[in-house]
Amino acid sequence: MSPGAHDAVIVGAGFAGIGAAIQLKRMGIDDFVIVDREDDLGGTWHVNHYPGLAVDVPTTTYSYFFEPNPHWSRVFSTGTEIKRYADAVADKYDVRRHIRFNTTVQGASWDEETAQWQVTLAAGETLRARYLFTATGFLSQPHTPDIAGIDSFAGKIIHTTDWDDDYDLSGRSVAIIGTGATAVQLIPELARRVTALTVYQRTPIWVVPKIDVRFSPRVKALFARIPLTQRTIRALTDGIYAAMVDTAVLKHRYFRRLNIAAADLAKLHRFASIRDPELRRKLTPDYDFGCKRPTFSNSYYRTFTKPHVQLQADGIDHIESDGIVNADGSKTVIDTLVLATGFDLWEANFPAIEVIGREGRNLGKWWRDTRFQAYQGVSMPYFPNYLSLASPYAFLGLNFFNTMEYQMRLMDRLFGELKRRGATTFEVTEEANARYLDLMTELLGDSLFTLGDCASARSYYFNPSGEATLLRPMTTRRAVSDASRFPLSDYAFS
Ligand code: NAP
Repeated sequence: MSPGAHDAVIVGAGFAGIGAAIQLKRMGIDDFVIVDREDDLGGTWHVNHYPGLAVDVPTTTYSYFFEPNPHWSRVFSTGTEIKRYADAVADKYDVRRHIRFNTTVQGASWDEETAQWQVTLAAGETLRARYLFTATGFLSQPHTPDIAGIDSFAGKIIHTTDWDDDYDLSGRSVAIIGTGATAVQLIPELARRVTALTVYQRTPIWVVPKIDVRFSPRVKALFARIPLTQRTIRALTDGIYAAMVDTAVLKHRYFRRLNIAAADLAKLHRFASIRDPELRRKLTPDYDFGCKRPTFSNSYYRTFTKPHVQLQADGIDHIESDGIVNADGSKTVIDTLVLATGFDLWEANFPAIEVIGREGRNLGKWWRDTRFQAYQGVSMPYFPNYLSLASPYAFLGLNFFNTMEYQMRLMDRLFGELKRRGATTFEVTEEANARYLDLMTELLGDSLFTLGDCASARSYYFNPSGEATLLRPMTTRRAVSDASRFPLSDYAFS
């Protein structure tokens, strides 16, 4: 390698970047740099700290498979606890010293001559490395809506990804735009603090009750003393989540009754929470349960029954300096506008930085000119020595840590083979990539995304061409097994 070059550069210090770093260390690779544009690690769990933030996957399941955490306070832990877990894991595996914070990456290009990646930083510096990992997450580019007049608003605007903890909400008249998973957590908290709250809903979300319990000090002590007890509960929560995704979503052709049952549960939940049938109607989605990520809350629906909370479902015409003019001509006067408007997934995130591979192939352009595709969710032909951890078909259903598990096992097999052969370069073959894309297309045929009524869901699971190329349409078990056993001839080594 040329002087000054690293073995690897990892872009992103969230759970994916930390996991990739731990795996590199396990394989004896220690000369790597992690770059992150933020000033701390944890990715989404560092960036997001809005009131009410919690995970919506049981924390027994929401952790690295090799690093259970006996200290979780409850089944659905808060964002603060999850950030603490990220810190603890990074420190335990000595990952922090590899991270360069406040460092934005502009792009990366493969240099044929040196067989290295050149990673350009916004400040002008170039890092060189044999291997490149992009661990940039799926929900990392905030979406700010382009609503007429929004720039003229004279009050306070807060995006949920940039929460101002010092801003006092008491006595405020607030509007919140968006009713996704973030808003479902935030709206009850806002309602508790403000004088008036108007919720702007474009597409209703499916909400089912949340069964959450605290882990008592005795239970936590048991988890710490006898890890098998926590592993058993993890097996149970993993199993429940896997069963939901594997049947109702992936094998929708045979299990559509389960989606209907889940929709019935949400209906019952609305019925138990809200008396006004018109309000219930407005909050009822008209697309199938599961087309976009459903969520859990015991307080969301009830919040709309409070006298100072209004649901505005008719749309926004434009925004003025002191409020929002609604599509029906009425005006909501506000001093604070909260944007719970989510993320630019397909436009800004695939890929999150410009990546130029062999023979000048531009990854973003190639995905758009052909189809969104990635062998096992990580590899693309013409991109040697590169694993893109946030690619099409990378994400396994509901729990990010399952994704991390198969990706770490794939790294293990791939880098193990490199070492065995004394090789330094790998690249997935065009044939293997094409075969994988065919498999994804075939498996999607049985899924909710193909067979369900998702047209009005506006779900980020679908790319701009309408293909559901975000989630891997296979079980975690199969993904982990494939990542541990894929034919080594699927890659070319040199
Ligand atoms: P989201 O699901 O994309 O929701 C964004 C919301 O903003 C939608 O209701 C969307 O309406 C609305 N919106 C966007 N642009 C708009 C416009 N111009 N006018 C009116 N409404 C507009 O984003 P999110 O709520 O931040 O959640 C994203 C994902 O983060 C979730 O799906 C989940 O995977 C994850 N998340 C997880 C947790 C957790 O683990 N606890 C918590 C929060 C979030 P449309 O639907 O009509 O587009």
